[in-house]
Amino acid sequence: MADKKEKAKSYLPGRHLLRRTFDNVMTEFFVTGLVLLNMLGMLVDMAVTDAGCNIYDNITMIQACITHHEEDEFVISWTNAFQYTELAFLLIFTVEIQLRLYAYGFPYFFDVLNCVDALIVIGLLILQLQLVTVLSTAGDSFNFLRIVRLVRLVRLFVVMNKVQKAQRAYKKAKHLKFGSPVERVMELLIDMKGRLEDADDVSDISWIMHLISSDKLYTIDLKVAGGANVSSEMMSFLENNLGGGRRQSVDVQCGETQAALPSTAQGLKRLETRMLEGGESLAALELARMDQLSTLPEIRAYLHPPQSSRRFSSPYLDVLPGRNFVSKVHGWDVDVFDFAAKAEGSHLVLGVHQLLEDHGLIAKLRLSKPRLLTFLRRVQDGYKAENPYHNSVHALDVVFNTNYFIRHKLVDELITPLDRLACIVASAIHDYQHPGVNNQFLQQTKHEYSLTYNDQSILESHHLASAWKLLLLDECNFLKGWPREQYLEFRDCVIQLVMGTDMKFHFEHYTKFKTKVSSNTFVAGCDREDVKFLLALIVHAADIANPAKPLNLCLKWTELVMEEFFRQGDLERKLGMPISPFYDREKTSVAQCQMGFINVLVKPLYVELCGLLGEQATRDCIGALEENLKGWEVHGNDLLLRKGVVSPTAGAADASPARGVDGSKSSRRVSKLI
Ligand SMILES: [Zn+2]
Repeated sequence: MADKKEKAKSYLPGRHLLRRTFDNVMTEFFVTGLVLLNMLGMLVDMAVTDAGCNIYDNITMIQACITHHEEDEFVISWTNAFQYTELAFLLIFTVEIQLRLYAYGFPYFFDVLNCVDALIVIGLLILQLQLVTVLSTAGDSFNFLRIVRLVRLVRLFVVMNKVQKAQRAYKKAKHLKFGSPVERVMELLIDMKGRLEDADDVSDISWIMHLISSDKLYTIDLKVAGGANVSSEMMSFLENNLGGGRRQSVDVQCGETQAALPSTAQGLKRLETRMLEGGESLAALELARMDQLSTLPEIRAYLHPPQSSRRFSSPYLDVLPGRNFVSKVHGWDVDVFDFAAKAEGSHLVLGVHQLLEDHGLIAKLRLSKPRLLTFLRRVQDGYKAENPYHNSVHALDVVFNTNYFIRHKLVDELITPLDRLACIVASAIHDYQHPGVNNQFLQQTKHEYSLTYNDQSILESHHLASAWKLLLLDECNFLKGWPREQYLEFRDCVIQLVMGTDMKFHFEHYTKFKTKVSSNTFVAGCDREDVKFLLALIVHAADIANPAKPLNLCLKWTELVMEEFFRQGDLERKLGMPISPFYDREKTSVAQCQMGFINVLVKPLYVELCGLLGEQATRDCIGALEENLKGWEVHGNDLLLRKGVVSPTAGAADASPARGVDGSKSSRRVSKLI
């Protein structure tokens, strides 16, 4: 109750308005001007009276001058007028101090200058009232005129100090005009802090200011984020992947790591030569291949909506103009492994091409189809097929997932055709030339990429830069002929989307997203930067979608990603490095790893995203997430061996025998995992 009263006092009527008036530099200058005018009058008074009578040592002599020296009439009338003017000034200053006291409350007196000034003004007012009385009644003599003058001089000193302060405030205000919004926020907080009297409120504001100044507004405390249920291994995994790890640097020679990691550079060079020799004929070949694949019944089943069945139609997608059909590839449950197996080694090319056609982007944005197909072929070839997880099937999976999200009404209404193209292309290239090890490994081993990108989002920078170099090759540049602004806008968007897949930004983006959703940011006409942020979040969500997929797909992905983790673990062991959390094939519990991954990373993000997208997304994704989580909790690692769930051909999605892993190998891997 008392607290409420205190708070109410801080918001007395008109108080805020008064504060804003006094905080205005112009008000400060106006008051200072009045004081200077007052001082000027005093100086003139001294000059006139001294020149006229040169006698005013005390009030008795003033009276003598008034009564006996007729020739000093001018001086006397001046003195009278001045004393009354002075009284008027002092009354104005007294009112000003009272108003300031009302506006700022007791803290106004925390400033010594304000204290001294108020004391002087009140003291002067009392003296002045007495002086005026003496002059009008011509009564008793008081020798305090000298004191009054002395005190006025002291006030002059105080006021000059205040002028200096006002000047500084003015300069600061001028600077703020060019400053960032955060400076204005800090200024408002300082302002608010000064007004509050409750110690808890003041401490809250101080905490907010500290948070802003330390630039940690979107940083999550991992211990708080994870809760008590998170294992220490999961915590180390998060610290490692979120850039907070303090793993010891391993002194491995550059050459050693390059040898340990299969080189992609050589492959790229070989491909480039091949392309330069026969770019045109290859493009023609791609076109023919696409036509041929599209006629295969098993491919048609994926790319075209079923005529008789409405199974894949969803009302939420029906609203999309011109794209109101839903084929298998648009669904959340599309089996990307099966699609890849049937696409005869052209899964990424075919999948991306089909989606661009479905969105009408090839015609709308006047993309060169032969160049697009050549580019897509080379992107697919740039993915290392020997990676169990980070291969072209994963890239296609992310393309499909991103497409699923952006087809929702809310997103569809916010984005342009250029954004749609950026989303699909960014998803397709987001892991281009992935070496099968993570950023931390590259950094620890001083890999060439880590040196090139100064340890900043090493892999993401590499995927992006190398894919963009590919895009700019004449035979791949499907954007050729675009206006410069359109090209730059597209590039800017793709960069933001690919860089957003760095796990390092997960918590920062998640918290930012949550804040934006709660403040209803994503509505028609919202800021372009917010739209791009939403798309970056969507591509990131699409990248970590595995645990939100139907159980059979989730388990296949789990097996593949864990195998890639373990291979890095093997490499770390070989190089004498500490083995990363969850990367030791002898000790890791897959179930523990997956539960941590779902609970800490995937589920919170998906709950927010699907909450924004609507019921269908919640049903598709959260439903599967919950089911998979329950599966891991109930069955533990045995979930991987559940009969009929793990396909014997899991991992054989890459059609080329050289790329895939055969069934028996896959089964061995499952047993090894447990
Ligand atoms: Zn990825």
